[in-house]
Amino acid sequence: MPNRIVVLTGAGLSAESGLGTFRDKNGIWTRHRIEDVATPEAFARDPDRVHAFYNERRAQAAGARPNPAHEALARLQERHPGAVTIVTQNVDALHERAGATALHMHGELARSTCAACGHRWTAPETMHPRDPCPACAAQATRPDVVWFGEMPHHMDEIERHLLSCDLFAAIGTSGNVYPAAGFVQEAARAGARTVEINLEPTDVSGLFDDHLAGPASKVVPEWVESVLDAG
Ligand code: NAD
Ligand code: ZN
Repeated sequence: MPNRIVVLTGAGLSAESGLGTFRDKNGIWTRHRIEDVATPEAFARDPDRVHAFYNERRAQAAGARPNPAHEALARLQERHPGAVTIVTQNVDALHERAGATALHMHGELARSTCAACGHRWTAPETMHPRDPCPACAAQATRPDVVWFGEMPHHMDEIERHLLSCDLFAAIGTSGNVYPAAGFVQEAARAGARTVEINLEPTDVSGLFDDHLAGPASKVVPEWVESVLDAG
């Protein structure tokens, strides 16, 4: 049985909790361009617009509930005798609400950070560019999310887990955004079996040993039971 498991999750995991993915019709991303709201340059140019975008996402995420896929992954983390590391690209808190712990490589909507001193704290419901930092008082408050062109969080720790895992699963992620898209190759190089769980094939499906197709809320609980049963 696999001892060390790394699970990478993406927007598809939270889709059935009502939080949109990149390609959702009518989704939030159809109304905003990355370069207007999700880059350091956008924030420098128009911080009010960027805060308004993330305030909307924070409000939307606050009302979302974990779905059976989040719950199954929490069960895997609790019951699997070996280590289960969940690495998520999602900025919502649905892994935590389901009772799991996750490394948020793209940050968290629920956190604020200070662009001047790096201090981090729990975000208020609505953030404004002129909110002073509680540590240094600079008016440089920003959402603690990783924008395009910025370095994802926890990369050293994630690399360590990838290099020692026996099983790697990528769930609900399109494999378009690096460095997460390269994790499957790192895990495979380390000797792990790899499985992709997605509604449909992705551009990187060919890199995985196994494929499970279908909605995460159905397929992930089945996969978790099979991994736990194998133990
Ligand atoms: P994504 O939107 O690129 O891909 C979502 C994937 O989930 C797709 O492959 C889709 O087939 C799959 N999916 C959708 N519904 C599903 C379901 N019910 N069950 C199983 N799979 C399902 O999201 P991603 O891969 O997480 O994107 C990576 C990063 O890109 C994100 O963390 C975010 O930082 C960024 N992102 C950016 C934008 C944007 O800037 N426009 C939009 C979304 C994500
Ligand atoms: Zn500060």
